[in-house]
Amino acid sequence: MSAAPSLSEPHSDVASIPARVERLRSAFDAGRTRPLEWRREQLQGIRALVRENVDVLEAALKADLGKPNLEGFLADLGAVKAETDGALKNLKRWTRPQRVASPMNVRPARSRIVREPLGVALIIAPWNYPVQLLLSPLVGAVAAGNAVMLKPSEVSAHTSAELARLAPRYLDPEAIDLVEGGVDETSALLAERFDHIFYTGNGRVAQVVMQAAAKHLTPVTLELGGKSPCLVDADVDMETTARRIAWGKFLNAGQTCVAPDYVLVHRSREDELVEALSRAVEGFYGADPKQSADYARIINRKHHARLAGLLKDADVAFGGKLDEEQCYISPTVLRNVAPDAPAMDDEIFGPILPVLPVDDMDEAIAFVNRREKPLALYIFTKDEEHEEAVVRGTSSGGVCVNGILWHLANPELPFGGVGPSGTGAYHGRASFETFSHRKSVLTKGWRFDAKPMYPPYGRIKTRLIKKLLG
Ligand code: NAD
Repeated sequence: MSAAPSLSEPHSDVASIPARVERLRSAFDAGRTRPLEWRREQLQGIRALVRENVDVLEAALKADLGKPNLEGFLADLGAVKAETDGALKNLKRWTRPQRVASPMNVRPARSRIVREPLGVALIIAPWNYPVQLLLSPLVGAVAAGNAVMLKPSEVSAHTSAELARLAPRYLDPEAIDLVEGGVDETSALLAERFDHIFYTGNGRVAQVVMQAAAKHLTPVTLELGGKSPCLVDADVDMETTARRIAWGKFLNAGQTCVAPDYVLVHRSREDELVEALSRAVEGFYGADPKQSADYARIINRKHHARLAGLLKDADVAFGGKLDEEQCYISPTVLRNVAPDAPAMDDEIFGPILPVLPVDDMDEAIAFVNRREKPLALYIFTKDEEHEEAVVRGTSSGGVCVNGILWHLANPELPFGGVGPSGTGAYHGRASFETFSHRKSVLTKGWRFDAKPMYPPYGRIKTRLIKKLLG
């Protein structure tokens, strides 16, 4: 199995971009996107786009990433459907003004928080889950009543082309537009004024996005990456632990922002873990994962070469097989990795897993804390004190205990990074909030007017009021 022939990089007409953004703004200013009915129609449109095009989208994901159909169905399309279902179910509740208390000193008054749309949002997506990471933020943006410009990744060119073809058929083209392309097109978009920019990708481009946003004081959500650690305690059930880690790591050939980047295992269980990982991989993909229809490919040769470089001079416990032609790298585990080895430098973002021994969970916590704050942190343990020590003693976008990725599947949990792994969060209600302004509204009553508050103040009045409110 191999990824399909590469499609030339998609482009949109850069010169048309200002007018296209202006058109979205006109639609927003005219109030087109505000009615709940419009929002509901667009949410239904997103759901229909995904539901009615499972085959073409799965084929595009396969062409771009060699993505197994079930992985495309669940992790890309299914994630969008779940977000859309949740938004449709909760739209009325989310958009209802929220009554809050009014303290004594402001009474008589009624206070409420009204969610209002921000305006025109720009959503820039990466290539690794190219459907989910474009359309899931869109769910929040339209639920909140915004007009939206979408920019899929040019790197996943087949999926970009399908989404560009399908979007105008299912979504209101007056208020939701899609620009294909890479640096030129994204730069042209970033030169325009937006009311929110939602960017998913690497930290280097996030700096470009933030700089462009600063010009217009546009708020940003940055969904970034980092080296997500996976801690394995001395007391775990090793077969289950290894199976869960191997699944989360080798899904999409390791090209998942929250994939475990490296493992810190209690020294007493290191050998056992490596053997169990090897068994898990063979159980999933057979003796030769290259022949498995269930194992994805690296997105392109550039990334393949980058990952191949990490294997140079490395101690490969198992895997390490490469095929440049097919952009294939077998599921690989590294041992005896120095903390300053190339594999421990940048985010790996591929099917290579360094395993490093530690003496205890305190050492693991100290190791994690010496590095940048990651997007996800995983701990496998049966010891609740160790679990608590890791949760409280480290900082990361999120934590999943005794599992991999599952914290993303609960829409009640906001998903996002912290520090270099991201700013802001989404999923479920958090998506709606991300694309909404929480407007405070206080309505004064007519019945009573606190006349002593008005000038002239005078000495006695001042003393009295200070005593009353001080
Ligand atoms: P990418 O190369 O597709 O880039 C992301 C987007 O940025 C694309 O739409 C691209 O066109 C645009 N872009 C690239 N260079 C640009 C430039 N110079 N100026 C303006 N726009 C530019 O994807 P990537 O960045 O390689 O994605 C992988 C990274 O994303 C990893 O670090 C991964 O951890 C992270 N990621 C994070 C999440 C999350 O939800 N937090 C999800 C997926 C991936």
